[in-house]
Amino acid sequence: MTNAASKLRLTLSVEGQTVIVDPCDLLVVACDPRGLTDVCTFTPSELAVFDGLQNCTFHTTLVRVPVPTDAARKPKFGVILKPDAIDRMEGNVSGFRNETAKQLSLETANAMTENLVTVYQLLGPEKTPMTQAQFLKRLEDILQGLDWWPYDSLQICTDDKGAPITLTTPYFDHFDNAGLAANLPWKYLAVQGTGNTLYVHGSTCFESVLQCWQYGGMLLDQLPSLGIALPADKNAARIAVLGAGPSGMLFATGCRAWATRACRSSKPPAATAARPIPSRWTNRSRLSCPPACRRKRRAIWAPATFRPLMTTWPWRLRISCRATSAPGFS
Ligand SMILES: Cc1cc2nc3c(=O)[nH]c(=O)nc-3n(C[C@H](O)[C@H](O)[C@H](O)COP(=O)(O)OP(=O)(O)OC[C@H]3O[C@@H](n4cnc5c(N)ncnc54)[C@H](O)[C@@H]3O)c2cc1C
Repeated sequence: MTNAASKLRLTLSVEGQTVIVDPCDLLVVACDPRGLTDVCTFTPSELAVFDGLQNCTFHTTLVRVPVPTDAARKPKFGVILKPDAIDRMEGNVSGFRNETAKQLSLETANAMTENLVTVYQLLGPEKTPMTQAQFLKRLEDILQGLDWWPYDSLQICTDDKGAPITLTTPYFDHFDNAGLAANLPWKYLAVQGTGNTLYVHGSTCFESVLQCWQYGGMLLDQLPSLGIALPADKNAARIAVLGAGPSGMLFATGCRAWATRACRSSKPPAATAARPIPSRWTNRSRLSCPPACRRKRRAIWAPATFRPLMTTWPWRLRISCRATSAPGFS
């Protein structure tokens, strides 16, 4: 990908064939940008921001546990998180979630002989994170000695090939104190729109699904001020979303959901003494419905906040689904 100041050229690998999209109107990076340095030509400002990112490592393990038979020793909670272990972020066991109780209720789970439980371990930012084997050894060394762990023994669940059912994943991309002092969050915001590229991955906001949704929506509302001008013919807009995790999926579907909502919002709510018209309704705009809306070409009332989106609605969203360094579309 060439990410020059004013033009974006995207080279795609599609079922073994190379496809060049030139120009690409908008690239939406919905995966960790640090993993793209070999395929993206980033600007020095972008690299300075990405270099400042660091992350924790989350490790989860699925275990099978016998349920205590003694009524007085039955677990009282389906989930326990241990704040001090989470605070220390040393890779120790910091919590568990009883999956059987989540599905069937704790009462039902407690009446069974065995339950399935996910055990959580969290490691802080490290240059060399613990391996899966190290996480598992730590779990086996300490779990049975924890006074809040309610089960007498455990067996690590395995898959068809006999491998432990675990997940070791980067978690919570963020800047350290030096990065905050260097204003890196604001510099991250400043690179938005550069080279017709938006960054919506969890690293841009507080890494939770809700925040990904909100942050992506904020960017969509601000496309013109970010210097992103999509073609007037929305069918001609070429937009690539790289990464099909929550932020990529939500960004893509958010466009459609917000546009539809704007179409439905054909009238502002009636004002009453107790409930005046909210300010977002007071700047009324006459808009045309997008083609997907059955009310063809009918002028509508819509909240002002929806107007930029409606006027730049990208009709052709395609989502990259491959977690490889060579982006591919499906
Ligand atoms: C154990 C755990 C529990 C969590 N629990 C919660 C919770 O309860 N609630 C909550 O809100 N959040 C939770 N989170 C956080 C949440 O998972 C993240 O905030 C969210 O996944 C971020 O979404 P994302 O799409 O930005 O990134 P990701 O989920 O990392 O998705 C990025 C996607 O891009 C793909 N990708 C990477 N490189 C490329 C490439 N070169 N080409 C194409 N695709 C690529 C990846 O395979 C991945 O599918 C949890 C996280 C963990 C680890």
